[in-house]
Amino acid sequence: MLRIEKVVVGPLSSNSYLVYDPEMHEGIIIDAGGDGDKIVALVDRAGVKVGYLCCTHAHFDHTLAADYVRSVLSCKFLIHKDDVWLLEMAAKSARKYVEPDGYLYDGYMIEVGQQPLKVLHTPGHTPGSVSIVGDGFVFTGDTLFAGTVGRTDYPGGNAEQLADSLSKKLMSLPDDYVVYPGHGRPTTIGAERRSNPFIKLAKR
Ligand SMILES: [Zn+2]
Ligand SMILES: [Zn+2]
Repeated sequence: MLRIEKVVVGPLSSNSYLVYDPEMHEGIIIDAGGDGDKIVALVDRAGVKVGYLCCTHAHFDHTLAADYVRSVLSCKFLIHKDDVWLLEMAAKSARKYVEPDGYLYDGYMIEVGQQPLKVLHTPGHTPGSVSIVGDGFVFTGDTLFAGTVGRTDYPGGNAEQLADSLSKKLMSLPDDYVVYPGHGRPTTIGAERRSNPFIKLAKR
């Protein structure tokens, strides 16, 4: 059974998650939007070896501590290729390009201990937004939140793509799957299917 723990980090209160197998002592981090030391402390407390930092998309509030976390934990930083331009834009203001070690894509499998997690490409909030699905849970980044969905008015955002990602990909998951979003509290696929007004719109 995988365990999931969370710290809230950075200037926009983003969720950074540690998903780990407590018997195999292996885990991955999902998003690193700041406060790298908090993320590293979480990993230390769990006593696991982290192989990968997977970012759900390249906005700074999900990647700000990527370089720090990667170097302290000696893990690989993965992101979808379609968001690399956002990393390059961020590099202009920060004067530093944080190069990914590899790229996530639809159907990409990540092993945590002996359990596979699967990447879904869920564009719309950004072109390279991904969700990461395990047995009974999904990390949705800024694509789906409790009661709302991601904005599509930033550069690269696309409302039609977001609606497709929601209706064709995330809403095809079972109702009892727990949703761990990029900001705010967890929810479930079923609760969002029933009561999220943006999901009802996306279905039309
Ligand atoms: Zn975002
Ligand atoms: Zn965000």
